[in-house]
Amino acid sequence: MESLSISRFWRYRRAHYRLTGKKCLRCERVFYPPKRSCPYCGSMDLEDYDPPERGEIIAWTKLYETGTPYTPYRPIYLALVKLGDMTALLQLTDVTDEKKQLRKGAPVELVFRRIKEDGSHGLIYYGIKARPAQPIETQE
Ligand SMILES: [Zn+2]
Repeated sequence: MESLSISRFWRYRRAHYRLTGKKCLRCERVFYPPKRSCPYCGSMDLEDYDPPERGEIIAWTKLYETGTPYTPYRPIYLALVKLGDMTALLQLTDVTDEKKQLRKGAPVELVFRRIKEDGSHGLIYYGIKARPAQPIETQE
């Protein structure tokens, strides 16, 4: 997330706090973050899409170098996560075992967490992260 002013953060709070994306009513694709027009077909005929709170990892990476507001949280795990019809790039939290928890298809669930602090203004931003989850069904 780039640095946002308070007013801009407030305006996009639904996207940040609920991870609400957009579904295109013409081509039926879903995208996040929300935009005013569909990135695939250009239609402005869109509706909100609230994704399920569980999904799975498509790909992940680990960042050791980050911008200043994220320094206390390094290293940071980022994952491309499939949530229903939507794909979102999210920070992963509560990773305790990379080898077991982080692979393609591994289940994750959404959690509300501190994202960063703005030291100069004393602001703390919260938002959605994903954390490793237990599979819904066990195969025993
Ligand atoms: Zn479209």
